[in-house]
Amino acid sequence: MTTVAFIGLGNMGNPMAANLVKAGHAVHGFDLMPEHLETARSNGVTVMANAIAAAKDADVVITMLPAGKHVLSVYEDIAPKVKKGALLIDSSTIDVDSARKAHAIAAAHGLLSVDAPVSGGTGGAAAGTLTFMAGGAQAAFEKAEPVLQPMAGRIVHCGDAGAGQAAKICNNMILGISMIGVAEAFVLAEKLGLSHQALFDVASTSSGQCWSLTSYCPVPGPVPNSPANRDYQPGFAAALMLKDLKLSQEAAQQAGAVTPLGAEATQLYALYSALGHGGTDFSGIIKFLRGQPA
Ligand code: NAD
Repeated sequence: MTTVAFIGLGNMGNPMAANLVKAGHAVHGFDLMPEHLETARSNGVTVMANAIAAAKDADVVITMLPAGKHVLSVYEDIAPKVKKGALLIDSSTIDVDSARKAHAIAAAHGLLSVDAPVSGGTGGAAAGTLTFMAGGAQAAFEKAEPVLQPMAGRIVHCGDAGAGQAAKICNNMILGISMIGVAEAFVLAEKLGLSHQALFDVASTSSGQCWSLTSYCPVPGPVPNSPANRDYQPGFAAALMLKDLKLSQEAAQQAGAVTPLGAEATQLYALYSALGHGGTDFSGIIKFLRGQPA
């Protein structure tokens, strides 16, 4: 049995921590929101008074927080206090620069660390089928892998510090761009009098095939469990897509990569969110492309 500290028990963190409890680990949890602590307690997590109290006796500390500034602030607090030999895993989606700073804080205290953002959403978190994209030294990854296992469908070691975050934002930039591409094709098909099903039947077995079309179709009908069939209830909220696209553009700027479609996708999701649709599924962008008010 490993003692795992879990800091950040929100929509993702709570179901992930619950899977660690089910796997037989002792989980010491902390979140700033009392209602999230209540849920954690009911899932078998031992609730602690603050992040340091949660982390100090842990073999592994997992953070699942909103953004880089939260992760760095928690790392500054806990790194001097954790046990010698403890491993720090950050599964939040944050900018590559902050991820590398978090690794540097850990290293300065002689600790191994892994950035391990996830894809799979709240459904994957509950089912224990998340994909983890890990960055960090081989020794850190080998230590992290068995702890991540009960929460994971797949775990990929992407490279050194920050490589997990890099993989995550590259993947989600593809997703944002491809969803807009698929949605535009359906809007054009509507104008041309082509049925949704006809376009789906052709494109899903032709060169236009992609995940946004075949697993997450932005119109109701062809893929019965896609959010389009439930009035675009998320799923993956447009605000989170916008967050990840912004991270991709920050990284592109810093690295000198040219990503014009990533930039355009960021603008479109920013407009869609500014119109009040940040809480709806990101595939709802099709309504915006049609010029529909809601
Ligand atoms: P959330 O807002 O539901 O949870 C974040 C939690 O962190 C909140 O409960 C908040 O109270 C807590 N928190 C903030 N600062 C803290 C601190 N200093 N100490 C302790 N707790 C603190 O967000 P979420 O949906 O669980 O997402 C968490 C991370 O996972 C984000 O980086 C997000 O981008 C990423 N992610 C989310 C999804 C998704 O579908 N929700 C999918 C993949 C990745």
